[in-house]
Amino acid sequence: MTTPVYQNFIHGQFVPNQSKETFAVKNPATDEVIYHVEVADESIQEKAIASAREGFTAWSAMAPIERSRILNKAVYLLRERNDELAKIEVLDTGKPIQEADCVDIQTGADVIEYFAGLAPTQVGTQQPVANDFFYTRKEPLGICAGIGAWNYPLQIACWKSGPALAAGNVLIFKPSEETPLGAIKLAEIFIEAGMPAGVFNVVQGAAEVGQWLTTHTEIEKVSFTGEVGTGKKVMQSAASNLKDVTMELGGKSPLIVFDDADITEAVSAAMLGNFYTQGEICTNCTRVYVHKSVYTQFINQLKARTEANIIAGDPLDPNVNLGALISKKHQDLVLGYIEKGKAEGATLLTGGHALSPESAPNGYFVAPTIFTDCTEDMTIVKEEIFGPVMSVLVFEDEADVIARANNTELGLGAGVFSQNIQRAHRVIHQLKAGICWINSYGNSPAEMPVGGYKQSGIGRENGIETLNSYTQTKSVYVGMSQIESPF
Ligand code: NAD
Repeated sequence: MTTPVYQNFIHGQFVPNQSKETFAVKNPATDEVIYHVEVADESIQEKAIASAREGFTAWSAMAPIERSRILNKAVYLLRERNDELAKIEVLDTGKPIQEADCVDIQTGADVIEYFAGLAPTQVGTQQPVANDFFYTRKEPLGICAGIGAWNYPLQIACWKSGPALAAGNVLIFKPSEETPLGAIKLAEIFIEAGMPAGVFNVVQGAAEVGQWLTTHTEIEKVSFTGEVGTGKKVMQSAASNLKDVTMELGGKSPLIVFDDADITEAVSAAMLGNFYTQGEICTNCTRVYVHKSVYTQFINQLKARTEANIIAGDPLDPNVNLGALISKKHQDLVLGYIEKGKAEGATLLTGGHALSPESAPNGYFVAPTIFTDCTEDMTIVKEEIFGPVMSVLVFEDEADVIARANNTELGLGAGVFSQNIQRAHRVIHQLKAGICWINSYGNSPAEMPVGGYKQSGIGRENGIETLNSYTQTKSVYVGMSQIESPF
């Protein structure tokens, strides 16, 4: 059976490359190639830049309210096509349709809608100085680049394009080579919504295409989502022409469950924060610190609910709530971490192996895995695994658990469960993380800024400040009196 071949999406249309080089994309739940994609070779790269230049001239000259209308039309189309787009995300990522159906497209659309609303609110300032005055203008940066990870492909494309385009920039977006289709669908929707050609181009490929984006001198900013190690490389290349950068990187986030916590709620949060999207979420609370006095109650409930309620299988089945990991390579990596956990002395509470569900026997599944008796020197507690693997640790003292929670180079998320509001806020204020939750975990509305402390990132996505990060301030001094010149 022949599979479709997708070309790069440049200037409002599919454009063939010259090298004829393609790569294959597999469905993680079946191990079958579902389509091929042409790599953005030099000819495509040149076209993408020429198109973006033209797109910027048209888009930046438009009134913000006009840009806002087009973005809102795209939001409407995204929501209208939710089911079709959700299915694309399931086939590309292996995540359950019950998630993609209500999260991926909708949270992407929410963010574009939010920034579409903010687009016309961008204002400068005016200030008198002696007899003269100056004013400031918020101007777009120009051509920006977005580089995405594979866990929320379409959502990431929306989260990067929303603020970039609302502020009047154009974006060249490179999705992950594992999940390239969602971004193309977004590009088609933008064109259908009336966006000028060249405002949102999609280039396809792996690291080399990413490197080209990060070194090109006409690109003013790179917004990157991916691993810490790749983020460092991106930042290094971006320094070549002092590009602005936003870095959304990995995490090893703590969840602290105090003795007065609602245990059922805390278990729900720990399960959501480790097993949703089969554990492939950057903010996951993979280090769960439980107070000694509620430890037994917590792990008994955690084990029982994990063993009773997780349904792995064909991700297109609406009853399935645990999908396949992104690739065989990633499945092996996660299983390797599990073996390290066992070898380094953690106790396996449940899981700890690959799964081969009847409805998807060839998929890259890993059973939801919980380790107890974990200590901070174990590899599974130190490194981001990006799979369904939870480490549970015990604590007794508040100051001690804060120090242990902060003892990491990463600082993306953190959570606290406690019914004592003073303690909950006191603790959360001391945790070195950018995205924090009290008696909740994982919610990320468009209005709330998200991003990492320490090596988990630079800059923010979502929230008002993100729009500013896609603008530069121009100061205009206006002389109202005669120039005092010594010449
Ligand atoms: P990755 O770093 O391997 O790849 C990310 C993207 O970078 C891909 O598009 C890839 O092709 C590209 N790339 C690879 N090498 C490059 C280079 N040298 N220059 C430029 N681009 C390059 O990450 P991944 O495996 O796709 O995603 C998983 C990681 O992403 C995890 O660490 C996860 O925590 C992180 N993540 C973070 C957030 C967040 O918002 N903080 C969200 C999702 C995922």
